[in-house]
Amino acid sequence: MRVELRKSFQFEAAHLLPHLPETHKCRRLHGHSFKVEIAVAGECDSQLGWLMDYAEIADAFKPLWEQLDHRYLNEVLGLENPTSENVAVWIWERLKPQLPLLVEVVVAETCTALCVYRGE
Ligand SMILES: [Zn+2]
Repeated sequence: MRVELRKSFQFEAAHLLPHLPETHKCRRLHGHSFKVEIAVAGECDSQLGWLMDYAEIADAFKPLWEQLDHRYLNEVLGLENPTSENVAVWIWERLKPQLPLLVEVVVAETCTALCVYRGE
Protein backbone atom coordinates (compact mmCIF):
# COMPACT_ATOMS: atom_id res chain seq x y z
CA MET A 1 0.00 0.00 0.00
CA ARG A 2 1.59 3.22 -1.18
CA VAL A 3 0.82 6.32 0.89
CA GLU A 4 1.82 9.95 1.05
CA LEU A 5 2.27 11.93 4.27
CA ARG A 6 2.30 15.69 4.58
CA LYS A 7 3.51 17.81 7.46
CA SER A 8 3.23 21.57 7.57
CA PHE A 9 5.40 24.22 9.18
CA GLN A 10 5.43 27.99 9.43
CA PHE A 11 8.18 30.54 9.66
CA GLU A 12 8.29 34.32 9.76
CA ALA A 13 10.86 36.05 7.61
CA ALA A 14 11.71 39.21 5.68
CA HIS A 15 12.94 39.42 2.12
CA LEU A 16 13.13 41.49 -1.00
CA LEU A 17 13.50 40.34 -4.58
CA PRO A 18 16.62 42.11 -5.85
CA HIS A 19 16.22 41.39 -9.58
CA LEU A 20 12.82 43.07 -9.95
CA PRO A 21 12.40 46.69 -11.07
CA GLU A 22 12.56 49.31 -8.30
CA THR A 23 8.88 50.03 -8.91
CA HIS A 24 7.73 46.46 -8.16
CA LYS A 25 6.32 46.04 -4.63
CA CYS A 26 8.35 42.86 -4.06
CA ARG A 27 11.55 44.85 -4.62
CA ARG A 28 10.86 46.60 -1.30
CA LEU A 29 11.83 44.99 1.99
CA HIS A 30 8.77 43.20 3.42
CA GLY A 31 7.84 40.13 5.41
CA HIS A 32 5.66 37.03 5.19
CA SER A 33 4.36 34.30 7.43
CA PHE A 34 5.67 31.56 5.17
CA LYS A 35 3.95 28.18 5.21
CA VAL A 36 5.91 25.08 4.23
CA GLU A 37 4.48 21.67 3.48
CA ILE A 38 6.76 18.65 3.28
CA ALA A 39 5.44 15.53 1.54
CA VAL A 40 6.96 12.06 1.72
CA ALA A 41 5.70 8.96 -0.06
CA GLY A 42 6.38 5.25 -0.12
CA GLU A 43 5.20 1.82 0.88
CA CYS A 44 3.35 1.67 4.17
CA ASP A 45 4.91 -0.72 6.70
CA SER A 46 2.16 -3.33 7.10
CA GLN A 47 3.10 -4.21 10.67
CA LEU A 48 3.49 -0.67 11.99
CA GLY A 49 0.67 0.59 9.79
CA TRP A 50 2.56 3.73 8.89
CA LEU A 51 5.05 5.04 6.38
CA MET A 52 7.18 6.89 8.91
CA ASP A 53 6.94 8.87 12.11
CA TYR A 54 5.78 12.46 11.45
CA ALA A 55 8.34 13.42 14.09
CA GLU A 56 11.10 12.24 11.73
CA ILE A 57 9.93 14.83 9.19
CA ALA A 58 9.93 17.52 11.88
CA ASP A 59 13.40 16.51 13.09
CA ALA A 60 14.79 16.62 9.56
CA PHE A 61 13.28 20.04 8.85
CA LYS A 62 14.21 21.67 12.17
CA PRO A 63 17.80 22.71 11.28
CA LEU A 64 16.49 24.33 8.10
CA TRP A 65 13.63 26.02 9.94
CA GLU A 66 16.17 27.52 12.33
CA GLN A 67 18.03 29.04 9.39
CA LEU A 68 14.79 30.55 8.01
CA ASP A 69 12.67 31.66 10.96
CA HIS A 70 12.89 35.34 11.90
CA ARG A 71 15.65 35.88 9.32
CA TYR A 72 16.31 38.30 6.51
CA LEU A 73 16.28 35.60 3.83
CA ASN A 74 18.54 37.52 1.41
CA GLU A 75 21.34 37.04 3.96
CA VAL A 76 20.91 33.25 4.15
CA LEU A 77 23.61 31.45 2.13
CA GLY A 78 22.02 30.26 -1.11
CA LEU A 79 18.97 32.51 -0.79
CA GLU A 80 20.33 35.76 -2.19
CA ASN A 81 17.25 35.87 -4.46
CA PRO A 82 14.64 34.43 -2.06
CA THR A 83 11.60 33.87 -4.25
CA SER A 84 9.19 31.14 -3.13
CA GLU A 85 10.59 29.04 -5.96
CA ASN A 86 14.17 29.40 -4.73
CA VAL A 87 13.17 28.81 -1.10
CA ALA A 88 11.43 25.57 -2.14
CA VAL A 89 14.52 24.36 -4.04
CA TRP A 90 16.79 25.43 -1.16
CA ILE A 91 14.71 23.33 1.24
CA TRP A 92 14.56 20.37 -1.17
CA GLU A 93 18.33 20.24 -1.71
CA ARG A 94 19.04 20.25 2.02
CA LEU A 95 16.19 17.98 3.08
CA LYS A 96 16.35 15.24 0.44
CA PRO A 97 19.62 13.71 1.75
CA GLN A 98 18.10 13.51 5.27
CA LEU A 99 14.67 12.45 4.08
CA PRO A 100 15.00 10.13 1.06
CA LEU A 101 11.22 9.60 0.82
CA LEU A 102 10.73 13.33 0.14
CA VAL A 103 8.53 13.86 -2.94
CA GLU A 104 7.35 17.46 -2.67
CA VAL A 105 8.11 20.79 -1.00
CA VAL A 106 5.43 23.49 -0.94
CA VAL A 107 6.26 27.08 0.02
CA ALA A 108 3.43 29.58 0.46
CA GLU A 109 4.16 33.28 0.91
CA THR A 110 0.51 34.19 1.42
CA CYS A 111 -2.82 32.39 1.79
CA THR A 112 -3.36 32.63 -1.96
CA ALA A 113 0.10 32.17 -3.49
CA LEU A 114 2.31 29.11 -3.25
CA CYS A 115 5.04 27.24 -5.11
CA VAL A 116 5.28 23.44 -5.42
CA TYR A 117 8.66 21.81 -6.15
CA ARG A 118 9.07 18.10 -6.83
CA GLY A 119 12.80 17.95 -7.46
CA GLU A 120 12.80 18.24 -11.26
ZN1 LIG B 1 7.49 38.63 -0.66
